[in-house]
Amino acid sequence: MNRRSFVQNAVAGALASAATTSQAAPPASKMIGLQVGAVSFVDEGVNKALDIFQQSASVNTLFVATFTYGRGIAGRQVPGQPLPDHGTQKYDTDTFKGGSYTKVRPQYYKDTVIQQFRAPDFGDYDVLEAVIPEARKRGMKTICWFEDVWNASVPNIEQAQEKRFDGTNATTLCFNNPNYRNWLLGAAEDYARSYEIDGIMWGSERQGAFANAIGASHGGNAGVARTTCFCQFCEAKAKARGVDPARARAGFQALGTFVQNGRQGKRPVDGYYVTMWRLLLRHPELLAWEMLWTDSLRETYAAIYAKVKSIKPSIGVGWHIWHNNSYSPIYRAEQDLSELTKYSDFLKMVMYHNCGGERMASYIRSVGGNIYGDVPQQELLDFHYRVLDYKEEKPLADIPKAGLSADYVYREAKRAKEALSGTKTLLWPGIDIDIPTGQTQSKSSPESTRAAVAAALRAGSDGVLLSRKYSEMKLANLRGAGAAIKEAGLA
Ligand SMILES: [Zn+2]
Repeated sequence: MNRRSFVQNAVAGALASAATTSQAAPPASKMIGLQVGAVSFVDEGVNKALDIFQQSASVNTLFVATFTYGRGIAGRQVPGQPLPDHGTQKYDTDTFKGGSYTKVRPQYYKDTVIQQFRAPDFGDYDVLEAVIPEARKRGMKTICWFEDVWNASVPNIEQAQEKRFDGTNATTLCFNNPNYRNWLLGAAEDYARSYEIDGIMWGSERQGAFANAIGASHGGNAGVARTTCFCQFCEAKAKARGVDPARARAGFQALGTFVQNGRQGKRPVDGYYVTMWRLLLRHPELLAWEMLWTDSLRETYAAIYAKVKSIKPSIGVGWHIWHNNSYSPIYRAEQDLSELTKYSDFLKMVMYHNCGGERMASYIRSVGGNIYGDVPQQELLDFHYRVLDYKEEKPLADIPKAGLSADYVYREAKRAKEALSGTKTLLWPGIDIDIPTGQTQSKSSPESTRAAVAAALRAGSDGVLLSRKYSEMKLANLRGAGAAIKEAGLA
């Protein structure tokens, strides 16, 4: 055998063996994830639910909601929304409480006053103990998915809450408060040491004081009085960064008057946009306080990442990035992926196309009430489409009913993928399946779901994460996602 035929034979052999391997191993090479809460496994049975996930959408990774006090990722369908075509056909208004859906091991929470947060919904049921062994038998991975959503009834919680500008306690917790920081690190350690998990994802759908004050988000509620955080820990951290808390307070006081006047339709003499710039120039502490919050969030990511890696480096660690990234240029500026990649194995960038139209309209109305108060709202939307690089989206009057397009998903995924290029961080776009919208607004369909998943994959994403929770998804729409996954050769 001469050298050339030896090489040809070797290559042919390798190809044949690769073909055999790919037939034996699961064909999906990308992460196909699904978010699911404990209630679905309790209601439908672990194995029946896993069968549906695999058969409908070739899911290979479970994002199990392990902790939240919110209905976004736990509990059955949100009351008032139609129940999907699976699971218990009854709302859990009386039984949903929230908290930890896994056992709480006190040794991990010694350095925090937050110690009683076990969800009472299902007694002693531990969702990871119930799911992981069955998932592993099928070669499915399990990622703990927890979020920054709390309840004021948790004992001692007031010792971890943020302080609003008006001095009252917020219901949100402060990343700079050791009670919260240590709770987060304790929870991550508990998951990493107690279970055979493949990853941890945490998410915080909040932003800093300036962006909150002007209502720069969907569902934004502008105003300064309830803006956070002005607690002792944040003030001390500000001072250490050379930012004077007293000057910041003066800035927020002035911003409060500006926002209040906007609400009452009292246009400033020089107009809204110019006056906003005058405030920022006079009070640069407004932006310093915004960035103080964002840096504190980043430090929280980095601390959780370091904690998990110190325990078991093979556990993937990443973050759910809030949908506001699709609307607010301020928030988008703060999601600097080149920064985040330092402590992110993966990023779930939210790209919810269906509810996205309604949310975009809400964002435009909110900032249209103050800093852009002089701009007609359609013009303001066009400006945002332009600066956010969206091309095929509908006018303001239509987007709540139409949603955003699959092209929006493609552009967002492509942009994120480019920003992450040359790094090890994987991109897993969050895909909208039946996220609740107003009764007469856009609803998910099998075709629009298929198109959104196809767009995310076409943009070069490393997977997709079907969101927000299985208990609100219709099976036909889940199969719509599955169709795109099959077409992409991943099933
Ligand atoms: Zn604080």
